Amino acid sequence: MVIYLDNNATTKVDEQVFEEMLPYLKDEYANPSSMYEFSVKSSNAIADAREQMRDFFGAKSEREVIFTSCGSESANMAIKGAVAHNKSKKHIITTKVEHPCVLNTYKTLEKQGYKVDYIGVNSNGELDIEELKEKINEDTALVSVMWANNETGVIFPVREIGEIVKSKNPNTLFFVDAVQGAGKVDISVEDSNIDMMGVSGHKFHAPKGIGALYIKSNVILPPLITGGHQERGYRAGTENVPYIVGMGKAATLAKEGLEHENTEVKRLRDKLETGILKATFNSRLNSSISNRVPNTTNIGFEYIEGELILLHLSDLGICASSGSACTSGSLEPSHVLRAMGTPFTSLHGSIRFSLSRFTTEKEIDYVLEKLPKVIEDITRISPYQDELEHLRKSRGKCSGGVCNKSNCNKGKCCESD
Ligand code: PLP
Repeated sequence: MVIYLDNNATTKVDEQVFEEMLPYLKDEYANPSSMYEFSVKSSNAIADAREQMRDFFGAKSEREVIFTSCGSESANMAIKGAVAHNKSKKHIITTKVEHPCVLNTYKTLEKQGYKVDYIGVNSNGELDIEELKEKINEDTALVSVMWANNETGVIFPVREIGEIVKSKNPNTLFFVDAVQGAGKVDISVEDSNIDMMGVSGHKFHAPKGIGALYIKSNVILPPLITGGHQERGYRAGTENVPYIVGMGKAATLAKEGLEHENTEVKRLRDKLETGILKATFNSRLNSSISNRVPNTTNIGFEYIEGELILLHLSDLGICASSGSACTSGSLEPSHVLRAMGTPFTSLHGSIRFSLSRFTTEKEIDYVLEKLPKVIEDITRISPYQDELEHLRKSRGKCSGGVCNKSNCNKGKCCESD
């Protein structure tokens, strides 16, 4: 039995997506660039998928959609391309809580002489907009922010940020990493100041190994991968037809499913979160309550180790994560939670649960039945017994509509009791 609550790491391929891909994995294997009749179906399938992605992005033209291999490639192409586009400018801006595919690309540019500003967040994970306003100047080539954070789910106000960027410097390019927004919130670029935006198919029920990049028609970027003329010269390499077809279908399903995501998936996420916060005295919500994608909750368990929690949950068939999939496995605490100033008492014991449209009520009930005992058992062997006792007394349980502590950060548990 697997209870999969790690959908921000990757998602299951939707059966309908798989069905759509199947002919292009089997019989329709022609190279879409070939001249014969046999290749027409493949090249038409790419054109259809490009239109589906255009619609998903809310872009004006399907010429603004480039297929890539993943979210990391999209970010690399946008960031490296943007500085090449604005080559006289030597200042770039991002946030402290970006995914490593952005942060490490910025680090590379920093080594090449670019001045980088990393904008901070508050304890809820929300961006310091005033700091951003102050930093943009005449020399700023690029501002890069994520639509939603992979660890906390916190949403950044990308439209407002786009307005600020362009009002401060119309020549600064604006890239949005929408990998964790796609399929959870409306990521339309319509009437926005977004110049480039990246997504990754495997985060919204397409397979791993396919992504896309929106590039506004007036922005010219050099290719990251040079070679043949595919993707109008933007990205060389024979097109991955079945995966492109799969992502197109997944994007259509994701758009149609937004309502469900923001009602049913959110209801289950809230049930899980409230239930955990209620049942465990040493837990706290690690983010803003309301300003989040509907599928994610990040909960800190104080004075215990997250890795140990994950191992116990894994024994019960429950998949969750600490930090991002890219950093879990390292003992470094999450750079996102550190940027938020998360107390060290829960920094090492923070767990992310991320749901999908395939998550069932039964699964959430199972986690709520099992997890409190896991936390209790691990808490019992923590070396911080005095601190835990103090916490137990001062915080108490969220019950009867009252939380014992005036500055309690247990969110909905206190409000909805
Ligand atoms: N950006 C964000 C916010 C992510 O969460 C991820 C993956 O977790 C990526 C980018 C990278 O996507 P990919 O794994 O497709 O390269």
